[in-house]
Amino acid sequence: MSTFKAPKGTYDLIPPYSAKYLAVRDAISGPLRLSGYGYVETPGFEDVDLFARGVGESTDIVTKEMYTLTTKGGANLALRPEGTASVLRAALEANLHKAGGLPVKLWYSGSYYRYERPQKGRYRHFSQVGAEAIGAEDPALDAELIILADQAYRTLGLRNFRILLNSLGDKECRPVYREALQAFLRGLDLDEETVRRAEINPLRVLDDKRPEVQKQLVGAPMLRDYLCDACKAYHEEVRALITAAGVAFEDDEKLVRGLDYYTRTTFEFVHDGLGSQSAVGGGGRYDGLSEMIGGPALPSVGWALGVDRTVLALEAEGVELDIPAATSVFAVALGEAKPVLFGLVTELRKAGVAADISYGGKGLKGAMKDANRSGARFAIVAGDRDLAEGVVQLKDMESGEQSAVALAEVVEVLRTKLA
Ligand code: ATP
Ligand code: MG
Repeated sequence: MSTFKAPKGTYDLIPPYSAKYLAVRDAISGPLRLSGYGYVETPGFEDVDLFARGVGESTDIVTKEMYTLTTKGGANLALRPEGTASVLRAALEANLHKAGGLPVKLWYSGSYYRYERPQKGRYRHFSQVGAEAIGAEDPALDAELIILADQAYRTLGLRNFRILLNSLGDKECRPVYREALQAFLRGLDLDEETVRRAEINPLRVLDDKRPEVQKQLVGAPMLRDYLCDACKAYHEEVRALITAAGVAFEDDEKLVRGLDYYTRTTFEFVHDGLGSQSAVGGGGRYDGLSEMIGGPALPSVGWALGVDRTVLALEAEGVELDIPAATSVFAVALGEAKPVLFGLVTELRKAGVAADISYGGKGLKGAMKDANRSGARFAIVAGDRDLAEGVVQLKDMESGEQSAVALAEVVEVLRTKLA
């Protein structure tokens, strides 16, 4: 223990556990990389106004959760609380929307920061893999993203997740609904903060988890009854395409999600084994966001999946990921054999075999302990006499069998045995 600990609400990823995080990131990005999405990486911080405008002044993220700082030069920055605003900013700055065909399809993976009350599945530093398809209004794009996320979770072995789907309407029909809902909410007995929320962002009140609020919401006007024909047709097409792909979903008319910028399609992936932090990922269409941050009209859709909660979901379902052993071959050098075995280990690594060697001048017993701890399938043991005969002892760590193998053939023999 040092004097220091990881800051409140954060945790370290330590081997072998950390391998799960890499596997989850790979599994989520895999389907994207096969679907025309290019990798994008943006800074860990941005101008605070990008999020204030891009995520929305009335959201929890902007009002309570952002880590903000003023630089020595006087710039107001925020650690990124989410990915979409940054990725869109980067795409606009690089003029990707003018470079060729639309949509611009991008994926990302990284750390995000929110000042939240830490609890299981809710941290102040967490990681997401996300995807954005920028500049096209096409129900097939919304469907594609939902299908790819479903595929990612299934590849990982997750089964007990559900996809919740809704449409939030567009700038034609949503304002009409917003007013009807506001009128309804004004007639309720709500606490001060909720009354304020009802004025700024009434749709978010529908999302209130408190039973005393939910009870009063019975009979509230539903957006479904206000959707314009274009939004209705669009939503029906998204639903049909997902259904045709064999991906099951549930219509959830109350799903509004935390971010202000969503239009039309919104969706959330929830896992039933996670308690109250049940959302493993979410996303939707954000047709107005580009203009909100000073860009041209670029209808877009995207999602972000939480890596931390996905790992928790895997644990909740008891899914063991198929993670290859960190080390396949471990070398134990005796006498003067170290340089030769060190060279052999280098060769094995070049040949793509995960190999390691005992360090620190240990004797046979200590070095064999290292070999055991490494989880290696094979150990190569050699001393001066073996080398004089041009061989090493190859030990199968599972069966305990041991045999001499010519030094010149070890790499090939091991490659074949491990294939
Ligand atoms: P919640 O309703 O749980 O606060 P959110 O709507 O704020 O989630 P998004 O902004 O949609 O979440 O982020 C997408 C995903 O990122 C979430 O579904 C979740 O898996 C993950 N995520 C968000 N906030 C956190 C956090 N504080 N700690 C861990 N994971 C998080
Ligand atoms: Mg949140």
